[in-house]
Amino acid sequence: MKTLIQGGTLITESGMGLADILVEGEQIAAVGEHLSSEGAEVLDAAGKLIFPGFIDAHTHMGLPVCNTVTADDFDTGTKAAILGGTTCIVDFATQEKGETLAEGLSHWHEKADGNSHCDYAFHMAIGDWNPSVKAELSDTIDHGITSFKVYLTYGNQVNDRELYEILDALKPLGGIVGVHCENSGIIDACAAKVKANGITSPAGHPLSRPDEAEGEAIHRLLTVARLVDVPVIVVHLSSEKGLEEIRRGRASGQRVYAETCPQYLLLDESKYSLPGFEGAKYICSPPLRKPADNQALWQALEQGEIDTVSTDHCSFTMEQKRAGEEDFSKIPGGMPGVEERVALMLTYAHLPLPQLVGLMSTRPAKLYGMYPRKGTIQPGSDADLVIWNPNVQRTLTARDLHTAAGYTPFEGVPVAGVAETVFLRGQKVVEDCKLRAALAGQYIPRERNSLK
Ligand SMILES: [Zn+2]
Repeated sequence: MKTLIQGGTLITESGMGLADILVEGEQIAAVGEHLSSEGAEVLDAAGKLIFPGFIDAHTHMGLPVCNTVTADDFDTGTKAAILGGTTCIVDFATQEKGETLAEGLSHWHEKADGNSHCDYAFHMAIGDWNPSVKAELSDTIDHGITSFKVYLTYGNQVNDRELYEILDALKPLGGIVGVHCENSGIIDACAAKVKANGITSPAGHPLSRPDEAEGEAIHRLLTVARLVDVPVIVVHLSSEKGLEEIRRGRASGQRVYAETCPQYLLLDESKYSLPGFEGAKYICSPPLRKPADNQALWQALEQGEIDTVSTDHCSFTMEQKRAGEEDFSKIPGGMPGVEERVALMLTYAHLPLPQLVGLMSTRPAKLYGMYPRKGTIQPGSDADLVIWNPNVQRTLTARDLHTAAGYTPFEGVPVAGVAETVFLRGQKVVEDCKLRAALAGQYIPRERNSLK
């Protein structure tokens, strides 16, 4: 089947301009002016923007945490994703204590295979480091999982020795590690102190997780990475303190990739002081920071110091959040955002559109080994295309969104534009902002990092 998308404004990381796109089967066959429409269904995209499918490289669908499971599974979470213009997610397959990596991975395939509305790939979160896990790394990479995740907090954190060993074991294999950077000891002590002082509401959350805890953990990660001599990824960077550590590492010649999320750019810790239990909606880790941190991160984005913008979509209903009604540290941490990200960034980032395509599509595709199959619009690439109508003014509200969380942290926020039509590997899965073809997502095995 052939489709000719005519007259839209194409935007890639390298520039923008009017062009036609010919889609044949699952791939882009040609990009250029006045392409022949012979034998093709024609879609008029005049006045619309055409982006390569957006990639969200940080989601948690169907993740068991805090004696519950995230509100969104692959079905609801990826429906939200694709309706927001995200055609591929990279979710965190997770090895629980006592499991092999292969077991953790097969659980994620069970959750995702046949249940996903957008394409999906996996990072592998290492939750139980030991010699047999080390021996599995090479097979895991052969299965198309070239990026790994470790936590420096949460109770399943790695210690410094394990961190060193994991980076060292992945170095010859070319695997890369993304790290949740917060100092768990500082958090434990601060949480105990805050509660002892009688603060048990969500207002205690940011007090228990100071920005210094992020700065210290990033510093430690970069120290270990420097010793091992490998590049690393700081995921969901939230603070200026953390940013300063990344700058220091880079100034010393280290290759450090940084990811941030819309909530760390657009929301701040004042949300935790909302009346009643409302602040629980915004509990995520690291926590929302101060307006000065928002500012610092926006500036870092503009200066090209941040590589990717993902969401850390990790959704819970208010009912699930109520587990921590008497104790903020028991509130399941995370918020939805996979559907809102693209509209928020296109509306609020003062950045040229090609740069935004870089942050939300091309650069994650390169960093996570999916480029040029994903992340761009060129012959031979998957025909993952978002036809964006920039003229629709709307207000984000839970009623219109598809997460099972039942709320959006961006309720009432005005945004410009909407993903009107979305192609997933050549198939028109979204039309008139509605899902027309369900569960069309496939597993995407990945190559190694090619982002310089
Ligand atoms: Zn996460």
